[in-house]
Amino acid sequence: MQDLIAEAGKCINCGFCESVCPTLPAADFVSSKGARGRVDIAKFLYRYDEIDPSPSFYSCVDCYACLSVCPAGVNAGKVSEIGRMILAKNGKAPEIAKMIVEFTMRFRNPLGVRERCADWASGMEFGSMETLFYTGNMYQLMAYLRKFGKIRRIFGHYDESLASFMRRHPSFTVMFRDLYDRDMMERMNRYLRNIVELLRRNGIDFGYLGKEEPYPGTFIYDLGFEREFREYAEYVSEIFRSHGVRRIITIDPHTYEILKYIYPKYVDFEFEVVYYMDLIETVKVPDRYAVHAPCHFSRYFDFNGYVSKVFDVNIEENPTRCCGGPDELLFPEISDRISLRRFEELKSSGLPIVTACPICYANLAKDDSVIDISEVLLRSSGSR
Ligand code: SF4
Ligand code: SF4
Repeated sequence: MQDLIAEAGKCINCGFCESVCPTLPAADFVSSKGARGRVDIAKFLYRYDEIDPSPSFYSCVDCYACLSVCPAGVNAGKVSEIGRMILAKNGKAPEIAKMIVEFTMRFRNPLGVRERCADWASGMEFGSMETLFYTGNMYQLMAYLRKFGKIRRIFGHYDESLASFMRRHPSFTVMFRDLYDRDMMERMNRYLRNIVELLRRNGIDFGYLGKEEPYPGTFIYDLGFEREFREYAEYVSEIFRSHGVRRIITIDPHTYEILKYIYPKYVDFEFEVVYYMDLIETVKVPDRYAVHAPCHFSRYFDFNGYVSKVFDVNIEENPTRCCGGPDELLFPEISDRISLRRFEELKSSGLPIVTACPICYANLAKDDSVIDISEVLLRSSGSR
């Protein structure tokens, strides 16, 4: 609560943040689904010591666009993050959030498909575990989440009841194992193999945990379940330790962020965490692309600078435009509107669209012109 007071207490109520918050127009300008509205709810929370069961904090996509315009230095994304932690701690999180957290704690994967997430590497040989190739199941999960999203849209407002039922009957997750979007799965598997090939071309030896590879627990943290996250992070760290891992190669922005910046705040984490793009040599290719910069990556890494060295890009000035992905779980309609708007912005350039995050890809791949950056990097690192 002290953190919430420190952040939201700086607000002077000017409303500048509403001009850039992507969820506000996507929610038909309902103020509680925008940056200032969330800060106002936070103020109410600490002034009146009342836990508002409203899920508004969960509609924030954590893009931090608000921070770039706020004259008082308020990060409404951070306010939402703390708000979610307070709700979760008090048992007020939405049922679907509780379901995802419980499944992850139980199956070490949000949908109970951990073993299936190793299918892409079938028949491949890997090397020493000292350097670990860690997918975090992220590329693979997109094919399942796309199908899951379609089913949820059929149930509509029964969503919370469905989640409540699933929480009582976790064995039903067995049905997820064959519920995935086949086209998305094929593309994601190809992108994973691209990244392996890129690293090998650069002479890097690494191991892979296969069916034992756990999801990193990003949802648990993002949904506000701190206590559970600490326990889960200890479990994942122990798996790395037991295999003699020293360096971890991450391949998506969310896994990179959680292992490098969040895990060390909660558990002993002695491993070196790197991003695969930092390990590969590339030459500039003549092609032009419209590149979607992942918000979570742009916080820590000069993404635009990096891709500019590889190919001619059309990157818009605001690096924090979101793909809508983080709202897919709890607010699919808001997510759909944000992703469509972003796709149309990128498409208007007339160039092929490149993404560098599996979540961004899954949300923006509305036609075949959208590709993962590994396709381009493979071209720029030598002949295929
Ligand atoms: S821009 Fe900053 S000060 Fe202005 S309403 Fe938003 S959070 Fe408050
Ligand atoms: S982080 Fe993004 S979605 Fe969240 S309040 Fe700020 S601008 Fe809005």
